[in-house]
Order: sequence, then C-alpha cells, then structure tokens
Amino acid sequence: MPKAELHVHHVGSAAPHTVAALAARHPDSPVPKDPQALAEYFTFRDFAHFIEVYISVVDLIRDPEDVRLLTYEVGRDLADRNVRYAELTVTPVTSTRRGIAPEAFLEAIEDARVTIERDRGLVLRWCFDIPGELGLPAAEETARMACELRPEGLVSFGLGGPEIGVGRAQFKPFFDRAIAEGLHSVPHAGESSDATSVREAVEALRAERIGHGIRVVDDPALMEELAERGIPLEICPTSNVATRSVPSFAGHPLPTIAAAGVPFSINSDDPPMFGTDIDREYLIAGELLGLDEAGLAELARSAVRQSFLDPAGRTRLVAEIDAHLAGWIR
Ligand SMILES: [Zn+2]
Repeated sequence: MPKAELHVHHVGSAAPHTVAALAARHPDSPVPKDPQALAEYFTFRDFAHFIEVYISVVDLIRDPEDVRLLTYEVGRDLADRNVRYAELTVTPVTSTRRGIAPEAFLEAIEDARVTIERDRGLVLRWCFDIPGELGLPAAEETARMACELRPEGLVSFGLGGPEIGVGRAQFKPFFDRAIAEGLHSVPHAGESSDATSVREAVEALRAERIGHGIRVVDDPALMEELAERGIPLEICPTSNVATRSVPSFAGHPLPTIAAAGVPFSINSDDPPMFGTDIDREYLIAGELLGLDEAGLAELARSAVRQSFLDPAGRTRLVAEIDAHLAGWIR
C-alpha cells in the first residue's frame, strides 16, 4: 500500500547492510561488521541499553560521505516499502559534535533527498530534533541549524532521547524560535515517562503532533483534550515493546487511545534496530484494532492527512491509497 511515514529516525533506520558498510569504513568502532552479529547486537535489555547501542551507531557517522550514504540508503529502504512521503527525524547535533561542519552535514542530507526523489519518487522531509539528554546547549545548536541554515527539506522541529529527568518545558525558548520561523512542533513525549510530559509538550512546546505519547492513557482528561484539539500521536507499536515502554503487544494502549478518539498514525521509529518495518507495524495495529483492508487504508490516509506535505501532495497520495484499496478488495 502506498503510504506516509511520520516518525522514523535517520540513524535508527540504518539497515544492517548500511551499518555494516559504515562499520567497515571505521574499523575502530565496537559495532559488529557482520550483519548476522549485528542482529544480536540489536537485542535490547531496556530503554537505557537501547540508547547506548543507538549512540554507538551514531558514532559511525563521522564524515559527510557517511551522512550522504546513510540518508540515501534509508530513503531507498523506505521506497522499497512503498513509502511515498516520509518525515525523517534527523539529529544534526550528534554528527556536528563529531566534527562534521553544519553546512557539510546539511549539504549531504539535501543531496541524498534530491537524489532519492529523482531515483525513486520518494518525497523526503526533515524534522530536526534536539537530543534531550545533551541539554540546552544542544538545543541551541539544533535551533541555530534549523533557523539560520534552514535546509529546503526541513518542515518541523523535535525533541527526542531519554525522557526521565529531561523535562519538556525547559526547551520552550527553542521551540518558540523554530515555530516563529514557520516550523511545526513535533516533540517526543509520554514514551518512557508519563502523561505529564505530554501535557508539557502540548502547553509549553505547542506540539502539533506528539512522538509516541502513549502514556496519555493514564490521563483521560488529556486524551479528551487531544481528541478535541486534533493533536495526533505518532504510534510505533514494536518500538514500545522493544524498549519495554509497554510489556507486550497485548498490553499496548493503542486500542484505548483509538477508542478515546485521539487521532494517531502508525510508524516504525527505528525499524531495523527493532527488527520491524512499516508494513509490519500496520499489520500489528490492524490486529490490535481488529481492522480489515479498508481499516488499514484508513490508517494510511490518516497519516497523510496528519503530515506536513502540501495540500496537493496530500490529495494525490490519498488518491493513490484509494486506488490501491479498490484493487485490493476487488
Ligand atoms: Zn522516536
């Protein structure tokens, strides 16, 4: 099915073949060079361990050619799944702090963006996110790259990383600046912490969508507010189980969120790291919600409507989904 991906991370989308190629370019890295051993390396004990492994992969992105290669390969893997439009969450600071000049980093991702659209028709856009664990200086650097060097493909501003001990509200000045520059606000919240962080994201950071946000189930009044204001959650079922944010698929709060009328989209987060892909996430969501083909197509349409793609592009992509469904149920 043609579709849009709204919550997928740049480095976290590196498939084993891409990570192995990057590790081979940098033999001093602890990341295994062999795709088989990599699969084992990507089995997480808990959220903290996941972050540790993630950062060791981030450390493989050391020069502009690494960035370009990674971005193009991520785009290719998305296109292989018939993703037609993706908002890729990019964390420029983690690369610029490893010595890549901001301008060279932006040039590399933009080169890959233009090339993959030409080669495969995939429309890629960027969400620049603050790695929350690096605090306010990293927020300042991210905001500067987003607002002063603004690349053409940039549509939104985010906040990721561990949530516990990293309050959302402290990042308000940086979100205010990004919003004033016309960027959309899309912070992570309520993934590994609680519903309070979702409220902070909505009130202090003026979130237009929330990354994960699954802990809203603990605050019915907040769910009602998100439903009324039409603030969607970006749901990534396998990621939540893999990071132990939820105990199991059976215990996933998606059915409660859907029943409360909170808008949501289905996404893959860091697919190769979690042994999943966007198609599998749709099937899992379909099982959790008891959906047939028409229901799955409606999930795909929701993601398009909640995206920051221009109106003409949204209309086109919804029409592609409709055409696919017509052929599917014939
Ligand atoms: Zn995420």
